[in-house]
Amino acid sequence: MGLIVQKFGGSSVANADRVRNVARIITETYRRGHKVVVVLSAQGDTTDDLIEKAREINSHPSKREMDMLLSTGEQISCALCAMAIENLGCPVVSLTGWQAGVRTDSAYGNARIKRVDAERIRAELDRNAIVIVTGFQGINKYDDITTLGRGGSDTSAVALAAALHADLCQIYTDVDGVYTADPRLVPGAMKLEEITFDEMLELATLGAQVLHNRSVEMAKRYNVNLEVISSFSGQPGTKVKEVAKTMEKTHISGVAKDKNVARLALVGLEDEPGIAFKIFSLLAKNNINVDIILQSIGREDTKDISFTVVKSDMEAARKILEEHRESIHYDRIDVSDNIAKVSIVGAGMINNPGVAATMFEALFNAGINIHMISTSEIKVSVLVDAADADRAVQVVHDKFYGELTGK
Ligand code: ADP
Ligand code: ASP
Ligand code: MG
Repeated sequence: MGLIVQKFGGSSVANADRVRNVARIITETYRRGHKVVVVLSAQGDTTDDLIEKAREINSHPSKREMDMLLSTGEQISCALCAMAIENLGCPVVSLTGWQAGVRTDSAYGNARIKRVDAERIRAELDRNAIVIVTGFQGINKYDDITTLGRGGSDTSAVALAAALHADLCQIYTDVDGVYTADPRLVPGAMKLEEITFDEMLELATLGAQVLHNRSVEMAKRYNVNLEVISSFSGQPGTKVKEVAKTMEKTHISGVAKDKNVARLALVGLEDEPGIAFKIFSLLAKNNINVDIILQSIGREDTKDISFTVVKSDMEAARKILEEHRESIHYDRIDVSDNIAKVSIVGAGMINNPGVAATMFEALFNAGINIHMISTSEIKVSVLVDAADADRAVQVVHDKFYGELTGK
């Protein structure tokens, strides 16, 4: 007997039958004698539909009002699930983020959880109720509703698991666990029995949406016992943990793709000390996160610097750099958002110098051009044309796992 946090994603609660299925999983866990806290996402495409509704009214709504709107999706699924559990004869209560004590900072649309005041949840558990909490939302110091960023319900679940010292945090979704690549994109992708927090954090940050990256960060910090599992198949899922069994043969644990990338290139920059400092401190001051940076070798007293940002920051970055043309001397700025980042991740690559070359060989054989490269101890990322991205994931995956999958 223990305390289990179970989170169900949007597709797991998309319609009445699926809500009933989720209610069955929850009540079975409860009837085995566990205390159960449930975190739910909004049903199906509800969040996208709400964003569309907002657009019909105002193309630039305030972030505060967007959060007010988007938080309603989770409230619907939680109330419906509580009703389905009532039908199954178990005591249950649904709570919004603020009722559950989820306190966040004030970054509307992308808030971070600062703490969870869990008295209400504990009181409900003490009276033996199943507690259902809206994912993706909290409340800030002004008592305004905030949301945590797309996919943020995973982070709500891990935050509650950490605050309540839960024995287990299960992320139920529409695939059987974490795979070596998105199983919807790569038919030969293999389910991982286990993966380390560090590798999962990289994969999630590099585009594998199966877990919200901040949920992994938090699970690592508080050593939450985390599992990704299917709402539908009943198969064992993937354990995410500090130390994991590795696939010795491949040295990598997965391939990920991120299409939310834009590249800016400053061409013909004056080749003088301090130029990189000027550019990137300006962007940092304006809260623009820069990812991959590439600087060319100087020629005839000029050089080029290119870098990537998320798509939604591309125009802002361009504007800032144009406004500062007086102090940063360059010939022109080229921008493109028709690109994607494809990455391999694996703790095993540190001691295996050939891993990056194997990836580049796979791309070369497929005639895919690489625009930028970035590496760390446990990942290699390349920037390719958006049109090549899916094929790039496929050929890189086949190259590393072909032997194992018989391809
Ligand atoms: P939920 O609504 O349950 O939160 P998401 O759509 O956010 O589900 O995440 C699950 C999806 O993540 C899967 O349907 C799958 O297409 C995608 N995905 C991407 N990369 C991976 C991966 N490496 N392993 C498993 N799923 C992945
Ligand atoms: N409903 C939110 C979204 O679609 C949060 C989540 O599902 O995790 O992004
Ligand atoms: Mg998700």
